[in-house]
Amino acid sequence: MLRADFNVPMEDGKLVDDFKLRALLPTLELIYKNSKKCIILTHFGRPKNQDPNLSTKPLADWLCAHNFDVGFAHKIDQIKTIDNKFVLLENLRFFDGEDSGDESFAKSLAELGDIFVFDAFGVSHRKTASTTKLPKLFDSEQKFIGLLMAKEVDALTKFVKSPLRPYSIVMGGVKLEKTDLIKSFVNLPCELRPDNILIGGGLANKLMDDPEGKKLHEELLVMSQQNSVQLVLPTDFVERKDIGSESIAKFGQIISESRRVFCNGTMGVFEEPGFEAGTREVLRKICEVSKSGMTVAGGGDCVRAVHKFGLELGFSFVSTGGGATLAFLTKNDFGQSAKTP
Ligand code: ADP
Ligand code: MG
Repeated sequence: MLRADFNVPMEDGKLVDDFKLRALLPTLELIYKNSKKCIILTHFGRPKNQDPNLSTKPLADWLCAHNFDVGFAHKIDQIKTIDNKFVLLENLRFFDGEDSGDESFAKSLAELGDIFVFDAFGVSHRKTASTTKLPKLFDSEQKFIGLLMAKEVDALTKFVKSPLRPYSIVMGGVKLEKTDLIKSFVNLPCELRPDNILIGGGLANKLMDDPEGKKLHEELLVMSQQNSVQLVLPTDFVERKDIGSESIAKFGQIISESRRVFCNGTMGVFEEPGFEAGTREVLRKICEVSKSGMTVAGGGDCVRAVHKFGLELGFSFVSTGGGATLAFLTKNDFGQSAKTP
């Protein structure tokens, strides 16, 4: 049984970017070669009820196109009746017990497999039945982390433990919740703490314009001053849908003086022509740092931008996680080896 993260961007039932699926190919091939049958579990999107647009069925087609013999099960009790080597289960979030972390739901899944492989890095920080309860139902000799999980943990551990400085974090996108993670970065012990935090995108607008955002901005300013972190926000914009040229230059300068950069952000609405420059130029500057330092990109949309501008080879590492990558980098227990389920 494999818990994977097949939560990939789709539009009108078509895959937009299969980066996360390709990253799982080594695990899928290894299991395919070495087992009689494997049940694949994943969540997909954030369905309310059983939204047919968020079925995992199209993902079975992707597996089929990659020469895996695969069947699809709408319900758990169908799994036993399917003879294909891979059986992909319907969206875990269609089942009542997944998000609530229900133990009996986890048990009904665990009964179907002898060996459990966890390779869903993207949701490794979430507390759901399949990520926390299910692994516990297998003995230690029966459960493993997958190759992708190992690769992510290895690359990100090297990144956080690196002594290279200045260390800069570039944050963007739209989610105001990211402010909590920015606070976590600022409050890390000094050996793990970044020197600079650059904030762009809709997130920066919210911190400057919204009443709730302004309050968070104040709190962030105080904390960062206390902890000697330089916080930098944009000073000019293109219709508030991208950062302006002065900000691009300022961000670029700080980035080029850095030796280690983590990027979770698009600086603007990079999907629309006319608002690409901020994201593209900032990403390009980060790639230059890779030559003498370390660079990591993470986050669904951020990585989509990395691919759109053809920069994937320019980064030291491109993570398949967003929230999981941020949770990993802001974790404060690198004295021990990183914890996995
Ligand atoms: P990620 O997936 O990389 O963590 P988010 O999901 O938080 O990032 O946000 C990505 C989205 O943010 C992109 O689709 C982009 O169009 C949007 N965005 C960036 N800047 C702005 C802005 N100034 N106004 C509106 N949307 C923005
Ligand atoms: Mg996103």
